[in-house]
Amino acid sequence: MSVPLLDLVAQYREIKDEVLEAIMQVIERQAFIMGAEVPRLETEIARLSHAKHGIACASGTDALLLPLKALDLRPGDEVITTPFTFFATAGTIHNAGGKPVFADIDPATLNITPGAIEAAITPRTRAIVVVHLFGQMAAMEEIGTIASRHGLALIEDGAQSIGARRKIAGAWRMSGELGTVGTLSFFPTKNLGAWGDGGLIVTQDDGLAERLRRLRLHGGSRQYFHEEVGTNSRLDTLQAAVLLAKLPHLQRWTEARKRNAARYTAAFAGHPAVCPPATDPANDHIFHQYTIRVPQRNELQAHLKAKGIGHSIYYPLALHLQPCFAYLGYQRGRFPVAEAAMDSVISLPVYPEMTSRQQDEVIEAVLSFYP
Ligand SMILES: *Cc1c(COP(=O)(O)O)cnc(C)c1O
Repeated sequence: MSVPLLDLVAQYREIKDEVLEAIMQVIERQAFIMGAEVPRLETEIARLSHAKHGIACASGTDALLLPLKALDLRPGDEVITTPFTFFATAGTIHNAGGKPVFADIDPATLNITPGAIEAAITPRTRAIVVVHLFGQMAAMEEIGTIASRHGLALIEDGAQSIGARRKIAGAWRMSGELGTVGTLSFFPTKNLGAWGDGGLIVTQDDGLAERLRRLRLHGGSRQYFHEEVGTNSRLDTLQAAVLLAKLPHLQRWTEARKRNAARYTAAFAGHPAVCPPATDPANDHIFHQYTIRVPQRNELQAHLKAKGIGHSIYYPLALHLQPCFAYLGYQRGRFPVAEAAMDSVISLPVYPEMTSRQQDEVIEAVLSFYP
């Protein structure tokens, strides 16, 4: 029996009627652009994120790009981020006219560390982009303090962390709640996936929310009048309808992901080779990915492939070593923790619909590789 890394068809079968009904309502009204479902989704996601405003946009990439544009970066302005993330995190810094500056990650959680951020700050630093990697939050309490002490904007890339939370001074704080802005992606493979591209920004800041709403509509708050140059980055009403129909299921899906993760971690506990992911005790981890660290990673990968077990390497080449960022001048060896991670990580199926028989198959395949 083969096990996929993710089975979107299994999810589709379960919720098909609700989602098709929601889509048909949009089609019957022919309200494809900024229909009522868009502000409704914005309100729902803002509430989930403990945020005042939600601004839907065309993708998780644009959810990063628009607030970076709103910083009005000048040539040479620096934005600190992690080298161990999906490309968009740093690509958008470049595309907003900033210079990506990387800072190394924590060997346990693989999230950017407050100490490395602090060490990377210069007089040209304007912002920090934190990524809550694989579904658990970075140390927002310390990073938030650093950002305010240095007067820096703090962007939370929450593409992988919808609904993740962290206990700070005794209270649960959501992904996106504490930053200047928090971003989400609704790429189909994310924990809450659209049937196409989509993204959303949350913020507590009234003025910034207004500006971001303008920037996604060609920089005008009134049609045909433009205060500044923005772009077209709307979320389709059809996608908002899909997401609203799926949203009531998110908590249950997240619980299933956590159960699957706990089952893996119990199975791998104490194993001499397989290192399960570490959860910071302050975090409620939503397991967008279940990522183990292993020796002979590439050989394990071939073994899983031969057995029909879905898997992926997130991420095989840290961003400071990407050819497109050679101009930044980083050399191999500069971020040893990120570089060790890229050579040892492998993500296993953890999707909610996976059966325990399928999971046993994955566990057996991994363990059979290490004698
Ligand atoms: C998926 C992802 C993005 C980009 O989202 P898209 O919707 O694909 O544009 C950005 N950052 C991280 C960490 C992601 O995982």
